Amino acid sequence: MNTEERKHWISWMATIAEGVAGVMAVEGGVPASQSVPDPGPSRRRHPLTETEKRIIEHQGTEPPFSGRFVSFFEQGTYVCRKCGEPLFRSEDKFDAGCGWPCFDDSLPDAVRSIRQNSGQRTEITCAHCGGHLGHLFSGERMTPKNMRYCVNSLSLDFQPAPQPVIAGHMS
Ligand SMILES: [Zn+2]
Repeated sequence: MNTEERKHWISWMATIAEGVAGVMAVEGGVPASQSVPDPGPSRRRHPLTETEKRIIEHQGTEPPFSGRFVSFFEQGTYVCRKCGEPLFRSEDKFDAGCGWPCFDDSLPDAVRSIRQNSGQRTEITCAHCGGHLGHLFSGERMTPKNMRYCVNSLSLDFQPAPQPVIAGHMS
């Protein structure tokens, strides 16, 4: 290999090395910029909106007759909007005509009731996460259980009951 050939060979090798480095840079850079860390199961519920935060975290009340569950009577389970814990059964829901979804019972140990300072009203919260649900009234004689859990629709999510399997006639 003479001097001229050697120079040519060195420059050719440098070109190859540059190309390899470039590919490595691309390979190293693209996945890093595209990778999104997994938020983990506890944070996968979609985040609360500002309105939901005002009600659930700051004891707000949605306007009457505005919620999606006021006139909703499908079979299933009502769960906490914030944490997803089951709170009420559709079997216990009744139409109180007050503008909010009402139940005359909750699932066992799912709802905490807190007598407010005035003693006039009892706040109800999710026993699991403490999220505000609404208020509990008793003695109104609207149902035989004589209780009314008056809940903001925005504090709830709904899980429909599985459709019953209707057995066909065997032939
Ligand atoms: Zn909750």
